[in-house]
Amino acid sequence: MPKAIYPGSFDPITYGHIDVIKRARKLFSPLIVAVVENPRKTPLFSVEERRRLVEEALEEEGLEGIQVITYSGLLIECAKSLGVDAIVRGLRATSDFDYEFQLALTNRDLDNDIETVFLMTAGKYSFLSSSIVKEVARYGGDVSKFVPRCVERALREKYGVRPA
Ligand code: ADP
Repeated sequence: MPKAIYPGSFDPITYGHIDVIKRARKLFSPLIVAVVENPRKTPLFSVEERRRLVEEALEEEGLEGIQVITYSGLLIECAKSLGVDAIVRGLRATSDFDYEFQLALTNRDLDNDIETVFLMTAGKYSFLSSSIVKEVARYGGDVSKFVPRCVERALREKYGVRPA
């Protein structure tokens, strides 16, 4: 099977990301989840916290054999050094498309041999983002439908509030 990397901020990992991982692991082996050290926005969780939460979430979901790494700098350099065939990205709605299209074409310019593959999430997760989850958790809202228990706990600790 071709080898792939699924990069992202994962600040924190949600069921939307997990849905993409479940779909990607049917197509790629090994599948490597790569947590970027310096995302575009200042993250709530440190890169090490985000990596650990991805690992714990995968364990909670019974998803074995998926490597989780962190990286900094250019994604394409990381992808090349790992020798992957593909970069996996998730698509929710058309709002994701412009940025993802730009990113994929730039990465193709940088390395024409690594393909970007887009996987669509299940409809029920199409509105879900790490930002929304953080917004709800910040005010003590129930995020159990959006994230695994380990992430729920971590959010609670971070914001120091109990769910309503
Ligand atoms: P980034 O900062 O690289 O966009 P994210 O953690 O926000 O990092 O997202 C990583 C990837 O997962 C992106 O391709 C994003 O579109 C996708 N993704 C995030 N949430 C969902 C979701 N609910 N359904 C499908 N894909 C998602």
